[in-house]
Amino acid sequence: MNVELMAKTQVFTTVESLQQHLSETRPNASVGFVPTMGALHGAHMTLVRAAMECDVVVVSIFVNPTQFNEASDLEKYPRTLESDLKQLEEVTDCVVFAPTVGEMYPEGHVPTRLDLGQIAVGMEGAARPGHFDGVVEVVYRLFEIVKPTKAYFGEKDYQQLAIVRLMVRELDLPLEIVGCPTYREPGGLAASSRNLRLSVEEREKALILYQSLAFAKEHQDEYSPEEMRNEIHERFETSDLNLAYINFVDVDTFEEVTSWSENTRGFIAAKCGEIHLLDNLAMA
Ligand code: AMP
Repeated sequence: MNVELMAKTQVFTTVESLQQHLSETRPNASVGFVPTMGALHGAHMTLVRAAMECDVVVVSIFVNPTQFNEASDLEKYPRTLESDLKQLEEVTDCVVFAPTVGEMYPEGHVPTRLDLGQIAVGMEGAARPGHFDGVVEVVYRLFEIVKPTKAYFGEKDYQQLAIVRLMVRELDLPLEIVGCPTYREPGGLAASSRNLRLSVEEREKALILYQSLAFAKEHQDEYSPEEMRNEIHERFETSDLNLAYINFVDVDTFEEVTSWSENTRGFIAAKCGEIHLLDNLAMA
């Protein structure tokens, strides 16, 4: 089915119709692919703008059930297709792939699994068991369908970006992964579809995530990584958010560091009410 909702944005819901469109209209075009779960915001648009270096931009909108480890989080994930299409329309004419779960994972579908090693052990891997297996499954399947030349991922989900890079390397997939800088709201809060569920007050309180990372970056000379973790834990004790983790890791190994280096990145996650928020920042 091909639903032409707007002049420039074409929405496909089946694999066959998407592939037919791509092969018929632009057979030799380079394809820039932006996978999303919808509820699009400014950050997604920066990825779309980056993808415009390719001849054709494909954006997928699919809330992937296999990467949610909490049923209520999946159920409450915002779904805003109409506004998503409107925002895309304002940026460029792109091809949208918005499949159903059955289309993505038909009967007999075998999920791709990989040994993700140390990258997936800590932080989001520990906080959300099975999450990264779901990410590998959906990203592999999307790559198989879209066959992009380049795919664009945000550094806001840095661990995810590292896992996608690992997958491409391990499976020798023929595409380039492009990491895009974290897009922030005024004050520093990393833009996220989950922010839609925060009240104005909660958004204010959630600034503590970025502020903690910025503090760590600025004051690393005064603390060891371990002391900095303790300092940030203390700061959260007087906040309304529940700190899930604050880790300083080497981005090549994803091992926690005992001293600061060019390779150190801070990762933080906390619950604001029932909403899981995360952020990360290079310490160099
Ligand atoms: P999502 O729809 O949340 O799965 O995100 C789709 C893509 O947008 C992923 O590659 C995310 O890393 C990226 N993304 C989401 N929020 C941000 C942000 N604030 N800055 C940069 N990239 C982001």
